[in-house]
Amino acid sequence: MMVTVLKATVSCQMYFNHYTNRPVELAVLLVNTCQAGGDQMAEADDLNQLLEGFRDLWEGVAQPPKASELEAIHQLRDSLRTVMLSPDDATASDHVNTILADYGAVPRVSLHNGEPHLHFEPINGTMTSWLGTTTAMGLAAVIVENGVDRFGTCNASDCDDVYVDTSRNRSRLHCTTTCSTREAVAAHRKRKDKVKNK
Ligand SMILES: [Zn+2]
Ligand SMILES: [Zn+2]
Repeated sequence: MMVTVLKATVSCQMYFNHYTNRPVELAVLLVNTCQAGGDQMAEADDLNQLLEGFRDLWEGVAQPPKASELEAIHQLRDSLRTVMLSPDDATASDHVNTILADYGAVPRVSLHNGEPHLHFEPINGTMTSWLGTTTAMGLAAVIVENGVDRFGTCNASDCDDVYVDTSRNRSRLHCTTTCSTREAVAAHRKRKDKVKNK
């Protein structure tokens, strides 16, 4: 029964439905603030900035972020990455279920914006609990509808950003066109150098 309900209402992230796609987008953005070159979310201000772009999702249903939550949100970020790097659906499901339990997910219908839709954060909860339950449900929807192989890590040598592959034939290899272009240029140069050195 639960699965049927979720399928009917949270299944559309591949089709860019407002309420299902954006939690996935938020999860990806959050995970990708942790980079080899440095933490892009080292300060509370970075967190505020990220959440500002999603204010319509959390305003009125979660408390605004506090600086003291930064460490907990770093932990959440690691947990979300673990889900996305899972080798199979069973492992990913275990990880995502753990997040949902740890952050106190409570499925319910919310009308905070006038339209009834599903929410999962604890009532009057902290930003951490909103962020944990909302992003985990986003990833859960991807796993249920499309499988864990829709998650990927960038193929570029100096980038380990994650992405959700929404291409029809699951052909995506890079986090962004910036990385795919850079890789293509590097490969082209390599080929040219090889020819020159012959
Ligand atoms: Zn809502
Ligand atoms: Zn990349």
